[in-house]
Amino acid sequence: MSSVVLDKVTKVYPGGHLAVDRMSLKAEDGEFLVLLGPSGCGKSTLLRMIAGLEEVTAGDLWLDGKLANHLPPRERDVAMVFQNGALYPHRTVRGNIAFPLEIAKEDPAMVRERVTELSKALHIDETLERRPGTLSGGQRQRVAMGRAIVRQPKLFLMDEPLSNLDAGMRTELRMEISSLVRSLGVTTVYVTHDQVEALTLADRIAIMNRGVLQDVGTPAQIYNDPATAFVAAFLNSQQLNLLSATVRTPQNEYVMLDFGPHRLTLPWSDPRAYAISQHTGNQVLVGMRPDGLAPVPESYDGPSFFGRVRALEYHGHEWLAYVECGAPGAEVPEPPDPRLAAALDPAEAGGLGGMVRKLFGKAVAPPQREAHEQHGGGHRRTDLIVRLGVRPAWRVGDPAKVAVDLTRLMVFSQEGARIDANRRPV
Ligand code: ADP
Repeated sequence: MSSVVLDKVTKVYPGGHLAVDRMSLKAEDGEFLVLLGPSGCGKSTLLRMIAGLEEVTAGDLWLDGKLANHLPPRERDVAMVFQNGALYPHRTVRGNIAFPLEIAKEDPAMVRERVTELSKALHIDETLERRPGTLSGGQRQRVAMGRAIVRQPKLFLMDEPLSNLDAGMRTELRMEISSLVRSLGVTTVYVTHDQVEALTLADRIAIMNRGVLQDVGTPAQIYNDPATAFVAAFLNSQQLNLLSATVRTPQNEYVMLDFGPHRLTLPWSDPRAYAISQHTGNQVLVGMRPDGLAPVPESYDGPSFFGRVRALEYHGHEWLAYVECGAPGAEVPEPPDPRLAAALDPAEAGGLGGMVRKLFGKAVAPPQREAHEQHGGGHRRTDLIVRLGVRPAWRVGDPAKVAVDLTRLMVFSQEGARIDANRRPV
């Protein structure tokens, strides 16, 4: 078993591309840590730095309490599984799994026993004498997994190992990875862009965007209490409702989120009221998941929105309603691009920007303008997406009253930072 500690780990690729920006994170002994984020956010780069396949530009990497920045890969005792677990085509399944033990000149009887045992756990014991070319994609990934596990490394690193498989196989193998890795108790860092994989597999999730850590916590912490609007929107199987509101505190009696035609109020006794009131007079972003909204009768006088049903969508296990309610929608703010900050912030002159310039003799290209700037702060009217049960309570064109579960409300600053919860800083 082993722990992994990243202390402001940074990767700048030749040419000046900042792929990982001062990541600080710990994977505890025996923990299953998932690195989640959109494609290109730096997950694989981080994993490859942990494996020793990519040099760390700045910051410290500690493996099992030892500074490992310059430790050769073979001395790290890590096993890696990739998207396309490349197998030796001329070796049988048995030969592939046994390979790391044969190289280590282990006792052949022990190797045979270990491979047989592992192949049973991976449900490939029937294929042991076949060659990889005759196996399905799922079976090949199982063999790759077996080869990684067989010598019981201190650390497993997995880079999207399921993404080339079809949906059914993904679900099956996902469950098996989870139980196998947990039964072995080996610390695992697992990269994926798939939120379902992350939520179902992880002890904790570290979510990244543009090379920057956005949030870290258990799946439930991150889902129920996301640190930023980006995290709330990313961890959402249905689209997040994100509206723009102005904070008001009329006569200091309560805190109000003013959406124009709609208002939600929080009494001062609400633990979030004070933090939100600090933004009085300012615009904030309010996030609501479709399952935090529900259809209610016209007579309902609790916190609610009203509108008209514009469309209904059937999803098999549920219906979603799109309710036109005239509330101002907002784009999910992208976190500031670290490349821009590094290139332009004078306070960083001796820091990262300075380092990038020193390394490559030039400033980094400024990024594209942010989407929310292009949309003028996002004041177009938007539909509210409401989760209905298996039988829709509404028809298209119906007037609709939508109850809001205030406990599920998420309030963010214009920049997307959570302001209504005591989130620990990441
Ligand atoms: P992810 O795994 O999240 O999809 P990567 O770590 O592969 O992201 O890439 C992060 C960023 O670094 C991307 O913009 C990618 O284009 C860039 N990148 C990756 N590898 C290299 C490389 N060898 N040289 C230059 N840029 C790279």
